[in-house]
Amino acid sequence: MAKGHSGSKDRHCVFCGRSEHEVPFLLQGLDGCICSDCVSIAGDYLKSYNSPEKASPEAIGDIPKPREIKEFLDRYVIGQDRAKTVLSVAVYNHYKRINHNLASSASDDVELEKSNILLVGPTGTGKTLLAKSIARLLKVPFTIVDATVLTQAGYVGEDVESILSRLLQEADYDLAQAERGIVFIDEIDKISRKGDNPSITRDVSGEGVQQALLKLLEGSVVNVPPQGGRKHPEQEFIHVNTQNILFICGGAFEGIERNIAQRLNTQVIGFGSMEKQKIDKDNLLQYVEAQDLRSFGLIPEIVGRLPLVTYLDQLDRDSLLRILTEPRNALVRQYQKLFEMDGKKLKIDPKVLELIVDTAMKNKLGARGLRAICERIMNEAMFEAPSSDSKTFNLTLQYAKAHL
Ligand code: ADP
Repeated sequence: MAKGHSGSKDRHCVFCGRSEHEVPFLLQGLDGCICSDCVSIAGDYLKSYNSPEKASPEAIGDIPKPREIKEFLDRYVIGQDRAKTVLSVAVYNHYKRINHNLASSASDDVELEKSNILLVGPTGTGKTLLAKSIARLLKVPFTIVDATVLTQAGYVGEDVESILSRLLQEADYDLAQAERGIVFIDEIDKISRKGDNPSITRDVSGEGVQQALLKLLEGSVVNVPPQGGRKHPEQEFIHVNTQNILFICGGAFEGIERNIAQRLNTQVIGFGSMEKQKIDKDNLLQYVEAQDLRSFGLIPEIVGRLPLVTYLDQLDRDSLLRILTEPRNALVRQYQKLFEMDGKKLKIDPKVLELIVDTAMKNKLGARGLRAICERIMNEAMFEAPSSDSKTFNLTLQYAKAHL
């Protein structure tokens, strides 16, 4: 007799196959049984289909114009005008696309496709800062993930689906909101293909991850375990459509200048010396193209899904000086605020700022090194100042040198 069939001595749930002794409660139907666990799972499943969260989200009113987005970024990020412009347009179009897709009917003429972005630039030049600053402005869920923690499905590490789990978390599990979100994937260069022959060993954290990422970037429905973590057979999946999720990728692509130079060299052969002279050899990153990314080790399909490629400049001395004082949350402002909270005034000799920048330039960490240097100089002052009677702390060059 069939499992779970009425009248059977050993009754089973026709959904999960467990016997009546293994389940809390077995409901008898006309031609079979269902256990209480399966009823509850089926109930949740139906709820997620009918829930108001599934209802179309509202259009985004008051979309900031590209110029406004750039002006906003200017408050936090020094320089990097090219990258800011590209990002501003991409985010603006992202909003427009969302509104257009909401408004358009099936018979509508033009379908607006998204253009994911790749930011190429040395470490500490503001890639993550740009992404974070964009997030402040956004009216859509936003998350930052590090590509180096991702591994191919089935291996130790995080599956690429975890990216969408995080986006869902940011959206408070509102699926419709998450499906219009923005994801920043940092260190994408670290999952480059190792060498030209992919068959030597299994490239678990390189090409395999790129292949897995591809299905996210190209827009498909991805099964996401709701609470992140590893997939489990009994866990229900949330079906996330990535078609309208904007992906911004960032990476240092150390050494890609060699690939660029090689390409430019072959291109200019035969064009005479004029073209050669026009090339700014000290700043080759500005010429970065899809082809260079491929020769660096990104698979062609991924490159194809990142149609907007832009670069960030290495920060020069002047930019580092500005970074110390100009942005809304500049380091100098932060220290002044800390002193102010103790009722003190912090006065810094401009020569100290130059010393800090020169030290950072030597360390070659870009703006990333500035904070550590400031901390070294300021630590003792911050230890002493709160207990001192003096209302002003003068940070002199001599003091700074002594503490570096
Ligand atoms: P990247 O992601 O390019 O390696 P980050 O954006 O993480 O670098 O920058 C590290 C830190 O340096 C940031 O927290 C920020 O304070 C500072 N910084 C870097 N670039 C800039 C910039 N262009 N303008 C202002 N601050 C910057």
